[in-house]
Amino acid sequence: MTWRFCLMIEPAASDAVLSDFADTFTVVDPAAPALSVGELSTQRGDGIFESIGVIDGHAQEVTAHLERLVHSARLCDLPEPNVAQWRQAVARAAAQCGRGESVIKLILSRGVEHGPTPTAWVTAATAPDNTRVRVEGVRVVTLDRGFDSAAPERAPWLLMGAKTLSYAVNMAAIREAKRRDADDAVFVSSDGIVLEGPTSSVILRHGDRFTTPAPGAGILHGTTQLSVFAFLGQQGLRAEYEAVLAPNLVMADAAWLVSSVRLAVPIVSVDGAGIPLDADLTARLNAYLLSPRD
Ligand code: PLP
Repeated sequence: MTWRFCLMIEPAASDAVLSDFADTFTVVDPAAPALSVGELSTQRGDGIFESIGVIDGHAQEVTAHLERLVHSARLCDLPEPNVAQWRQAVARAAAQCGRGESVIKLILSRGVEHGPTPTAWVTAATAPDNTRVRVEGVRVVTLDRGFDSAAPERAPWLLMGAKTLSYAVNMAAIREAKRRDADDAVFVSSDGIVLEGPTSSVILRHGDRFTTPAPGAGILHGTTQLSVFAFLGQQGLRAEYEAVLAPNLVMADAAWLVSSVRLAVPIVSVDGAGIPLDADLTARLNAYLLSPRD
């Protein structure tokens, strides 16, 4: 990944109305140190983030990402982000991206311990080349997420549904998948309900019907899943939220992991059992996801 740009942001109050937030932005060298050692993002993973796909300089689905940033901030008791300010920061970063695929990250941390304000910044970098995996797909293993499907309601302090900086568990799950000779993982609740990938949402096809686990199940509401459902709706196909039992995953006629930068990646096997790869629909999904979307 090549870093292209980094913008530090002085977070404005959520209700501050300014036509230009330029005075609250400072461009810094993305290769130089920029954070205090007391930063709670690095000390405790205490903060939230978004990763936005950028195609030929166009940041995709910015509104959906900003809505989720605001939702995550609420769940984490962080000050509400000023959406207009973040939108301008995204536009500044997108202007640095050039042709091809890039990724813009938005980060809002609780700041320095005992410090006065949160720390906020935006980065832009080239995206990894996902062309091959979008065609060939991934082998996944199902991994127990360690909580049952009632946990999100019973224990809201687990912050399920917030996109927090605490991704060590998600990264560990991907390493475990690789140890089991797979490429990626699908988390399953301890009572056997399909949740999400460590960095993606899961979409299944049974016949002409598409399903994905509902966000209330303790998972992130994926912006890419929302886009895919909009696309399927335009095609006259049925796409619904539904509790998916783990055995139904391997019985799917096709399934995908979807996310903002890797886009739609077909699942070709689950725990070693093959499932069909719908090459035509996968290509159409990715053509749609690579087209400019607001
Ligand atoms: N679920 C998790 C845990 C993720 O980390 C991600 C993306 O990183 C997603 C789902 C998919 O979200 P999006 O489509 O908005 O990228």
